[in-house]
Amino acid sequence: MLIYIKGLQDDRFARPLQLIANLFFEETEVCMEENEQSDLTIDIRLKEESGQAHAMAVLTAKPSDKEYTASYTKKLTADGDKERLKQMKMVASHVFLSVLQEYTSITQKWGILTGMRPTKLFHKHRQAGLTTEEVRQKLQSEYMITEEKIDLMEKILERQLTMVPDLYDVKDEVSIYIGIPFCPTKCAYCTFPAYAIQGKQGRVASFLSGLHYEMEQIGRWLQEKGVKITTVYYGGGTPTAITAEEMDELYALMYEVFPDVENIREITVEAGRPDTITPEKLSILKKWNIDRISINPQSYTQETLKAIGRHHTVEETIEKYHMAKQSGMNNINMDLIIGLPGEGTEEFAHSLDETEKLMPESLTVHTLSFKRASEMTLNKEKYQVADRKEVEKMMNMAEEWTSDHGYVPYYLYRQKNILGNLENVGYSKPGQESIYNIMIMEEVQTIIGIGCGAASKFIDRHTGKIEHFSNPKDPKTYNERFVEYTEKKLNKLNELFSDLPVR
Ligand code: SF4
Repeated sequence: MLIYIKGLQDDRFARPLQLIANLFFEETEVCMEENEQSDLTIDIRLKEESGQAHAMAVLTAKPSDKEYTASYTKKLTADGDKERLKQMKMVASHVFLSVLQEYTSITQKWGILTGMRPTKLFHKHRQAGLTTEEVRQKLQSEYMITEEKIDLMEKILERQLTMVPDLYDVKDEVSIYIGIPFCPTKCAYCTFPAYAIQGKQGRVASFLSGLHYEMEQIGRWLQEKGVKITTVYYGGGTPTAITAEEMDELYALMYEVFPDVENIREITVEAGRPDTITPEKLSILKKWNIDRISINPQSYTQETLKAIGRHHTVEETIEKYHMAKQSGMNNINMDLIIGLPGEGTEEFAHSLDETEKLMPESLTVHTLSFKRASEMTLNKEKYQVADRKEVEKMMNMAEEWTSDHGYVPYYLYRQKNILGNLENVGYSKPGQESIYNIMIMEEVQTIIGIGCGAASKFIDRHTGKIEHFSNPKDPKTYNERFVEYTEKKLNKLNELFSDLPVR
């Protein structure tokens, strides 16, 4: 689909309009110069007058020449050129979305919002002093978000602020993400740093010695500066893919080098693949007071697991869940994915029925996204997935099921190329929400990434400016360069926390 955007000369408008066009059509391209090949022409007239921005759009369909029109006016509250341009882009996006919605009869529930973190926008306006009602109105009129999604955002905000009452003040603390890049086998939809572990023991050992070094250095810096840790999250890969002894050493080191581990609000270990869970590993987790883990069924249909390359059985997930419960794990998260190949409402209903027998403390419902480098995307024709309507139905089933069973939504994020332009939602029993997930979604504090593929997110405590920094994804490069990467992170931390006295 090629869309010719007439009337706008400034190239800086192309990107936001392209992102909106992608919500409606697969493989869309927008161009700002006349092109005979174009399938649609959308004429956008944008002007600024007496402190207001006006936009008018006319979509002309081919070959019928049928026209769809929309107009919108917004008071400019801009401070400076950059902010002004941002607001003009929003106004153009508004009419662009309106005509496309009318033309396709598809309502985009998230309106013109294409970013990953809708709830962050809600927090931002709340922090700026708007009442909840004022924020709701803004989201509806300026962003065209539907009431249903605004309700969801509001519910999430409430839960987050209940769980972390000092959410707007945790910027003086940090959270830590520890990436362990090994899995028993690689799943078809995966783009995480995950290397099949079989026969790679040498590689694991050298990776772990680099990881230990990073933990010691970062731990020392935190001790010296007196910076507290809010949460620690072991992810990957599958952090339980390493041996019980290796896990034991790792957690012992965490207690030795990180400050005040007893008072860290939450320590999570992803045990995503049930085939990695053993009684020994569970007792190690218990020994070190780690009681939040994630066991991820993704689906309870065996053929699906096989099709996506997860070499474990449905029974194993259930068995390992009970094993974890019996060994004292009292906060277990389970992930489900909507729209896996070959799955529709029937399979998803089955997954929810099975979940009902277990009732984990939290349930994260993802919508399948075609990530660029995954096996599934590279061989898209091999994988049959549900259409937009059915995906939406499954999303509604999840919403209803969780609400009927006493779960509340507490975080959400969106991704590019996600089926039906929907979202991933974390639900939990009230009081069992994952604090780390809230930290990462709302970007309220620095997260230090340690280990393979670990992404650090440095947040300026005064301006909120975010800088990303990633460790190498593959263990080989990591092993060669972890000293250099650690140093870079320490320099950045020194810069961000320079106003704290050395203790
Ligand atoms: S278990 Fe998770 S990290 Fe490992 S290959 Fe599968 S999706 Fe990727």
